[in-house]
Amino acid sequence: MIPDWASERRRMVERQLRARGIHDQRVLQAMLSIPREEFVPPEHRVASYQDEPLPIGHGQTISQPYMTALMAQCLELQGTERVLEIGSGSGYHAAVLGALAAEVVTIEIVPALAELARENLKRTGCDRNVLVVCGDGSAGYAEKAPYSGISVAAGAPDVPSALLEQLAEGGRLVIPVGEVGDQELRVLTRRGGKIESRVVALCRFVPLRGFQGWR
Ligand code: SAH
Repeated sequence: MIPDWASERRRMVERQLRARGIHDQRVLQAMLSIPREEFVPPEHRVASYQDEPLPIGHGQTISQPYMTALMAQCLELQGTERVLEIGSGSGYHAAVLGALAAEVVTIEIVPALAELARENLKRTGCDRNVLVVCGDGSAGYAEKAPYSGISVAAGAPDVPSALLEQLAEGGRLVIPVGEVGDQELRVLTRRGGKIESRVVALCRFVPLRGFQGWR
């Protein structure tokens, strides 16, 4: 029997997101509209709307829905922005960002996952304003900088300086920072040449690799 994905999605939005304080209507709407089951590997598909991360191969995971929504909400997007994501993985988070911003560039370091993200975004029709680049996102993507929002889906030892340099005035960077397996989710905002920083949650992401990640 094929699950009723639409009602599972509605239940996820009510119980996992709204009940836990996700209040940005555009974020809730985006999470209601993107078919998460299309971004989850077939062997885990029945668990698409469970309150947990799921394996996507290559030792990587698609984040828990709440974490995707929380990170998206932290960027406070209005729909006109260019956004950079580091760690495309399945492409799901990029699809959500694509529904919230004008343009998304997402970088993935594992070639097979960059390809997976491309395929998933195309099949779901979410590729209209999302560009998948294969490379080391710890250095950002200078070609399209600056960005009004930068979202990092892997835990970094420190905030990569390249990402701060590519952040537009008034822009926000959301990033897990800390030890492997134990990080705090930080939001950094560029305001008048200064960087403001706050911690929004504790979290556990896979490690950010690359030049300004865990080498
Ligand atoms: N946003 C994804 C979750 C990705 S998990 C989703 O919605 O499915 C984190 C991803 O970051 C993994 O795919 C991993 O390969 C990638 N990654 C780790 N270090 C990276 C780096 N330096 N540059 C780009 N991607 C990186």
